[in-house]
Amino acid sequence: MKTIDQLLRPNIKGLKPYSSARDEFTGDASVFLDANENPFNQPYNRYPDPYQRKVKNKISELKGIEAERIFLGNGSDEPIDLLFRAFCEPGVDNVVSIDPSYGMYQVAADINNVEVRKVLLTDNFELDVEALFATSDDNSKLLFICSPNNPTGNCFAEKDIVSLIQGFDGIVVLDEAYIDFAPEKSLLKRIDEFPNLVILQTFSKAWGMAGIRLGMAFASAEITSILSNIKYPYNINILTQEKALELLDNEKDKLYWVERLLAERQVLADALEKMSFVQKVYPSDANYLLIRVNDAKAIYQFLVDKKIIVRDRSSVSLCTGCLRITIGQPAENSLLLEALSLYAQK
Ligand SMILES: *Cc1c(COP(=O)(O)O)cnc(C)c1O
Repeated sequence: MKTIDQLLRPNIKGLKPYSSARDEFTGDASVFLDANENPFNQPYNRYPDPYQRKVKNKISELKGIEAERIFLGNGSDEPIDLLFRAFCEPGVDNVVSIDPSYGMYQVAADINNVEVRKVLLTDNFELDVEALFATSDDNSKLLFICSPNNPTGNCFAEKDIVSLIQGFDGIVVLDEAYIDFAPEKSLLKRIDEFPNLVILQTFSKAWGMAGIRLGMAFASAEITSILSNIKYPYNINILTQEKALELLDNEKDKLYWVERLLAERQVLADALEKMSFVQKVYPSDANYLLIRVNDAKAIYQFLVDKKIIVRDRSSVSLCTGCLRITIGQPAENSLLLEALSLYAQK
């Protein structure tokens, strides 16, 4: 197996990161005249903590993982992009991804001029472990797995994910953006076992904070320090750090939202099953349902005319005829069901 150092791009290996005023002096002081900040308009006059120590300490407590194993980014988008920039030589290296999956891996790859080799899931949306290995070569630096997978909604078998982590000669990026809806399936508790594993989680879904842009990457201290060295020095602003601290003290809110959304998901799934034009409601471990319908485009447009927006996934691999529906508030879900009943009567 290649070491992290062997996987790293040469320019990153030799990089001397930007050293900010807040890097050079850490500790208690009362007069800060080192960063050319305006002394007025406190507290927003100050640059934020570049390492987000307080936020990481709280996440560390909450998740039972050392703070040095946590990287925080401007959404999950940031660590996704940084992983490309750290490990993939443009025009030379490639990454492997499952298909269908989250669209951002391809976009980040395109921006970084890195080839994505996509491997179809099986017909029942499981990982094709053999095909994923067969597609990888010596230049495959990252392997993206999203579980629960967007848009299919299912978690993959732990033994398949573990086989991939153990057999892939590069870094496996396991995107657990929706894992709060199926917490028992997280691999975070096993992260110490795998030096080539990066797990992504986010505040954008179950935590109800897509607007503050805060994503987490969990990995070995070696990997998190590489990401830290190449990020913008002050990537998480003060408002986001403050809001995150407040939020982390209220995990019970998140747990309550998850419980309600799971109950609503069941109500919605049961109602959809009974509709004449619904061929299949796929099982979901997330806060959305993928359904296969008779005429996805017509239904999508009918709903738009009723000012209800779902996601048309009918042109995505293995998802012909499929719509993806996010679980909303009970009143919103009722409006959706009413509109779909009208469609059925057309
Ligand atoms: C929504 C989503 C994210 C979250 O991205 P953020 O940048 O953290 O908002 C990450 N991965 C997947 C698969 C998603 O669906």
